[in-house]
Amino acid sequence: MTTPRSELARDAYATIPIYTPDETEYAIDLSDNSNQWGGPPTAERVMRESRESLARYPDTYSRMLKDALAEYAGVSSDNIVVGCGSDDVLDAAIRAFAEPGDKVAIIDPTFVMIPVFSKLNSLKPVMVPITADYDVDVPAMLATNAKIMYLCSPNNPTGKPLKRESIEAVLQGAPGLVLIDEAYAEFAGANCVDLVSKYDRLLIARTMSKAFGLAGLRIGYAIGASSLIREVERSRGPYKVGRIAERAAVAALKNDLPWMQGIIAEARENREKFRTALQAMGFKPLPSTTNFILLPIKDAVKVAADLRKKGISLRPFPKLACAPGSDLAETDGSAMRITIGKWDDMQKTLDALKEFTA
Ligand SMILES: *Cc1c(COP(=O)(O)O)cnc(C)c1O
Repeated sequence: MTTPRSELARDAYATIPIYTPDETEYAIDLSDNSNQWGGPPTAERVMRESRESLARYPDTYSRMLKDALAEYAGVSSDNIVVGCGSDDVLDAAIRAFAEPGDKVAIIDPTFVMIPVFSKLNSLKPVMVPITADYDVDVPAMLATNAKIMYLCSPNNPTGKPLKRESIEAVLQGAPGLVLIDEAYAEFAGANCVDLVSKYDRLLIARTMSKAFGLAGLRIGYAIGASSLIREVERSRGPYKVGRIAERAAVAALKNDLPWMQGIIAEARENREKFRTALQAMGFKPLPSTTNFILLPIKDAVKVAADLRKKGISLRPFPKLACAPGSDLAETDGSAMRITIGKWDDMQKTLDALKEFTA
């Protein structure tokens, strides 16, 4: 049953969906790219043994966590802003660098929340379809002349990194902020942090929800010139990271990097093995540098519903933007995003996909 909208409601929000992921528990859940190996051990222990006072406010802008992230990313603390998940940081950044009515240019397909954050902040999302090799269409992106240009590398849901020269071309031609979402940077082993000192319009968004296994803690951050960081903190507001979350995230950054590296290695190995097996079945999965794979498949929504009956949850996309000539165009943009986890789960997923081979 849908609740009728209040007559007090804001008109512009009529098309904003309430986020309703399927919250049924499935034996195998490869739908949201969270860490299939669990949370980082030291962070888990710190959280359980925490004696932080619940009555006291946390540090206003999380100084301790900013210091730990700065060391991890190889920048100074002034180049870091943190938030309640990278969603919070992305939302604050989008709000900080455009006036109501301005455009936000967004590669398409990409992370589904970006057009939503744009509308929530009274900005106009302009979708810019990717090229046949899943890269940003630089001339089309620059032609929008948008105040904010959003890129995601490696991109969700394609799994492919954008070309370095394309990213730099956007940075050189953009009139405003260039926001690069690097939620999967750890898996890719490559990132754009070195460009921060070269371009003072560049902001890189990161999260501890994926490789770090801390989706439940809600820790995101951004890296950029200190002048940009200041504005994001202004628009973000104080007290976004709780005391226990801050302590646990710092513990993970200081102690759990070897744990994370082990998982990244295993995820990569399983990803390549899984992709090869899909190819042997006649599928054309996209190459990936992340902990997920995009599989063009007809009737993805129906296939996902069938698999859920067998206890396997994947993320279907009925119609992604796709350029003529790409593998994604062969299924008219219908595709399944599959998180990479432990091999036993990947094997069961392969077995379940067998009946849908072309
Ligand atoms: C998962 C994801 C996020 C959200 O991360 P949170 O820190 O959990 O809010 C942001 N961007 C992309 C591309 C993602 O895939």
